[in-house]
Amino acid sequence: MTTLSRRESLILLAAPFGLAMLGAARATGERSGRDPQPRRLKILVAGGHPDDPESGCGGTIARYSDAGHDVVALYLTRGEAGIEGKSHAESATIRTAEAVHACAILGAKPRFVGQVDGDTRVDRAAYASMRELLVQERPDVVFTQWPVDTHPDHRAVSLLVYDAWLRTGRSAALAYYEVLTGDQTQLFRPTDYVDISGVAARKRSACFAHASQKPEEWYPAHERMSRFRGVEHGCEHAEAFIRHDRGPALPPPA
Ligand SMILES: [Zn+2]
Repeated sequence: MTTLSRRESLILLAAPFGLAMLGAARATGERSGRDPQPRRLKILVAGGHPDDPESGCGGTIARYSDAGHDVVALYLTRGEAGIEGKSHAESATIRTAEAVHACAILGAKPRFVGQVDGDTRVDRAAYASMRELLVQERPDVVFTQWPVDTHPDHRAVSLLVYDAWLRTGRSAALAYYEVLTGDQTQLFRPTDYVDISGVAARKRSACFAHASQKPEEWYPAHERMSRFRGVEHGCEHAEAFIRHDRGPALPPPA
């Protein structure tokens, strides 16, 4: 009897062309679960603005990165409308530099989609662009913002990533993260948690890299959130997620 690894079972369950994918995976030895070395994962963390991946997911980014996985922080915009008194171009320059700095702290690689803060589009071209991006990146895990959110740019990135995930065969794990819950994220009932107690200080530094966004005003709310999620999860600090149950489970950040 042929037994399937868990990854192989997930390929069969999740992908429209599961058998073909399984054959290819076995032929190359890739993703078969039989590699002697743990496989290096590609993690994609999408957010509407510089500071969203860091505040919602910064501890989890650091944990995956520390475990040797490749993490890409994907910013839908460069925060063009995010600094009062500055032009879009000036704000984009400042906030891009802040994002690059924050990514260096967390061990992630920044990538910018090229939409404009406050004027994000969810249309046929934007869907196609995000789908192409997922095809290029081939992530094993995708994190994005939860769509029930008071900020339209957060809703935009969530819908675009969800559509791209659907249309690329649901082969990656998909999990939604929260930002400023109660104020921005709403109706968030977690299914999964990551213990970030050991990297909470780095998450804080990455958030404070966004100096133009006055992190001293909003970081305390995230500190309270991570402590509360920690209580739920049984640790000091945690980040919480809602995982889509039609995709693979979240691999532990180890
Ligand atoms: Zn944002």
